[in-house]
Amino acid sequence: MPANSAPTLDGSVLPVPRDDIADAAPYGAPQLEVEHALNVNENPYGPSPQLAEHIGRAVAEAARGLNRYPDRDALALRADLGTYLAAESGIPAPAAEAVWAANGSNEIMHQLMLAYGGPGRSALGFLPHYSMYPEYARDTFTRWVAAERGPAPEFALTAQAVTAAIAAHRPHIVVLTSPNNPTGTALELEVVEAAAVALAETRGLLVVDEAYGEFRRDGVPSSLTVLEQHPNLVVTRTMSKAFALAGARLGYLVAHPAIVDTVRIVRLPYHLSAVTQAVARTALSHREELLGTVALLRGERDALAVHLTARGHQVAPSDANFILFRTFTDRDRVFEALLERSVLVRAVGPTGWLRVSVGTPQDNVAFRTALEEADPR
Ligand SMILES: *Cc1c(COP(=O)(O)O)cnc(C)c1O
Repeated sequence: MPANSAPTLDGSVLPVPRDDIADAAPYGAPQLEVEHALNVNENPYGPSPQLAEHIGRAVAEAARGLNRYPDRDALALRADLGTYLAAESGIPAPAAEAVWAANGSNEIMHQLMLAYGGPGRSALGFLPHYSMYPEYARDTFTRWVAAERGPAPEFALTAQAVTAAIAAHRPHIVVLTSPNNPTGTALELEVVEAAAVALAETRGLLVVDEAYGEFRRDGVPSSLTVLEQHPNLVVTRTMSKAFALAGARLGYLVAHPAIVDTVRIVRLPYHLSAVTQAVARTALSHREELLGTVALLRGERDALAVHLTARGHQVAPSDANFILFRTFTDRDRVFEALLERSVLVRAVGPTGWLRVSVGTPQDNVAFRTALEEADPR
């Protein structure tokens, strides 16, 4: 009996949902109260009291106009995001028309699949990949096709592997993630460019998800630097990770303005609240403070990778704010043993591997200490 026809506890007879979601459960990492939450790659440093106050003032200002709908096109915010990207990646500032913003890059990706996926169309990604991609595909009736990244512990993706998968599956959309979640792997530009060129032949869309872009190591370029040469390339970013603003929900993309115009067709009216726009613009104007923790987190990440390697773990080289490593014993037991010590990590990626977010130095010490007992050598 499908779940939707089961009687509910209160005996109500309920409407029948879509067949393909009838047995699905809402997806998401467990939200548990722990001392060391190292499971969803948040920035552990919240805004300073001064910045919180600035944000509060901006919200109060916006509140006085909340009887009106927000700026539907969020042009001021999109211009600010362009200015930020120029400073961050060394590219000329993209015009507001080449930037698009939404409630998290999850909504951005959803909008891209709405506009470029759909019935009879497919999207291709490479495992292990972010667990939400197949869900946006399902929601938009896009067929999700998963190819594989190279072997552990590098989980590399080569131009040859990507173009072969494109030739084999002929997808309408390809999603590349750099640095990748859950492996932390950054892509060489030649891989991104080879994918863009291969997809251009069938007029397909290439999306490079750079949610962790700001954490990449020195000398690792952003795909933003090749955007000009590839009109079918979209680079997505978020303020949820490096920017320490996960609670505000602000993601964005940069692309050819014609792609932005297409996405505007499927967005919901007034999707980005005036409050969100005000919060994001205020955070952007304090970017030195918010991004000040990135160097610290990168240093902690590299130290953690050295530590795990020295313990004898297999460790995936990471350009992000988390590390995927292989446990010595059953990963679910290690996960539980860490949780008993109030350290919450994530059981994702291939069997036997765990992902730990980089926290404050105190979080990281707590993780290392707990791991000694949870996964003895
Ligand atoms: C965290 C993450 C995002 C960001 O999602 P938001 O909706 O912006 O919070 C996007 N892509 C990947 C791969 C992520 O891990």
